[in-house]
Amino acid sequence: MTLRLYNTLTRSVEPFAPLSPPRVGVYVCGPTVYDVPHLGHVRSAYSFDVLRRALESRGFQVLFVRNVTDVDDKIIERAREETGAGGEGQGARDLKTACRQISERYLEAYHNTLAQLGIGSPTHEPRATEHVVPDMTDGIAQLLINGAAYEAGGDVYFAVRKFPGYGRLSNRTVDELQVGARVEPGERKRDPLDFALWKAAKPQEPSWSSPWGLGRPGWHIECSAMSAKLLGDAFDIHGGGVDLVFPHHENEIAQAQTLGKPFARWWIHNGLLTVNGEKMSKSLGNWISVEDVLRAYPHPDYLKLFFLKTHYRSPIDYSTEKMAEAKKNWEEFSRFFQHYDQRKADSGPAGAAAAEAVTARGVFDQAMGDDLNTPQALAVLFDLVNAGHRLLESNAPEGRVGARSVCEVLVECGGVLGLFRQGVSEEPLEVQQQVQARIRERDAARQAKHFARADEIREALRRDGYLLTDTAGGTLWRRAG
Ligand SMILES: [Zn+2]
Repeated sequence: MTLRLYNTLTRSVEPFAPLSPPRVGVYVCGPTVYDVPHLGHVRSAYSFDVLRRALESRGFQVLFVRNVTDVDDKIIERAREETGAGGEGQGARDLKTACRQISERYLEAYHNTLAQLGIGSPTHEPRATEHVVPDMTDGIAQLLINGAAYEAGGDVYFAVRKFPGYGRLSNRTVDELQVGARVEPGERKRDPLDFALWKAAKPQEPSWSSPWGLGRPGWHIECSAMSAKLLGDAFDIHGGGVDLVFPHHENEIAQAQTLGKPFARWWIHNGLLTVNGEKMSKSLGNWISVEDVLRAYPHPDYLKLFFLKTHYRSPIDYSTEKMAEAKKNWEEFSRFFQHYDQRKADSGPAGAAAAEAVTARGVFDQAMGDDLNTPQALAVLFDLVNAGHRLLESNAPEGRVGARSVCEVLVECGGVLGLFRQGVSEEPLEVQQQVQARIRERDAARQAKHFARADEIREALRRDGYLLTDTAGGTLWRRAG
């Protein structure tokens, strides 16, 4: 079944065909680690997790790269604020160490948050600081040889007007983009549109040696160097938030294609998130960390359903009303699984799949194939829940046997959306993680054919009050009663 995806570069929905199937190379711009993750970070990470699951459900093997920006002005600023490093009387080493500590701490926070939400880890997670020399410095050197870049007092800039395709991704001419571009104090660029490939070191800041002296890379060269290194000069999908289209992704294309690399074929961008209709910002007092949300709505699927109910490319507005609605939607699923456990036909022939389940599977795939239309895909699952209740209530045993296929399809499709991974009853986050870990242990035992051990784990979980339901799509668990 075809998968059609919107490509920002062509501004159209196109049938997706990777360069060398079944392999699909995906590069997504990851976080700059200077603070705890907020809802916008998670929307992006989850949107691309769903893309990855949708690709995998269609038999593609996804090589998923998400970078970490661990050298940046914001990290340096945060390190100064938090530790006072780099101030009077402090050695140069202090600020570097402090920057490393800041980025380590917030990368860990990011990882923890994604783990709590059950968002998969990337295949590769390159850190910018590990690829400065030689990956980024080589790229910059080539751009200088090529004449697309110039050196100015220890900085190196990319001369935007040397790249004829500039503006294609954001669909603007260079002259349109020029409006609003400016030269910041201390910058030595010739044209306001030019951007830094290399920044000369300021005293005490983290720096690397290069042919242009001590300094650090610009943000854009990070991603074009690391994506090409891990996925090749041409790869399938490059993604990120829509706020990265200009200038970040436009600049990445300019850098790569100036050096003759075809670069990414599909550009996929998720829409932005607002809170109660306003841009989220600390100064407006509406900045929400994921931790805050998970404290108020402790099952990760509430947040996931909230996201899924809006198409990934559309803007989304967070509000407690919408979270309450998402929670209600989740309870519909939870109620069905409970009903299923109470009324399912345990014995008897496997029986034919219910027609409702077969149809729903097809329509769900169609909706997901249509540029990941998750609102429509969810509607299919809610209809299926209703059909499932009817089957369970029917007096004919075939009906209750048919309900089994409804359960299977719900878990399978839920898996494509990343739902039901953390159980289908509301438990504290720590408990979710503990039960998940024991289920993973049981899966491993079953895979190794250690069935006695697997049964032991199941029994121990039952004693602790957790019921497991095995389906073709994975194991569901919930609290008994
Ligand atoms: Zn990037």
